[in-house]
Amino acid sequence: MDTPKPETSPVPIFRCVNPECKAWVREELAASASPECPMCRGKMIRGIKHLPKLIKKHRGSRKKNDEKV
Ligand SMILES: [Zn+2]
Repeated sequence: MDTPKPETSPVPIFRCVNPECKAWVREELAASASPECPMCRGKMIRGIKHLPKLIKKHRGSRKKNDEKV
């Protein structure tokens, strides 16, 4: 069975500088420009993480003009 590859996009994040700590947070969710690690209270540095794109499913209202496929 073929599983389609999830599309990923680079997302700016902050990650903990502690190599034993794997905490990270999206930059857009960070409280400030220099957030502290929620796990170990250490410093966090900027980085990039490739995350699968969120696919929003259309729910509720179906298209009425869907004859063409
Ligand atoms: Zn940490």
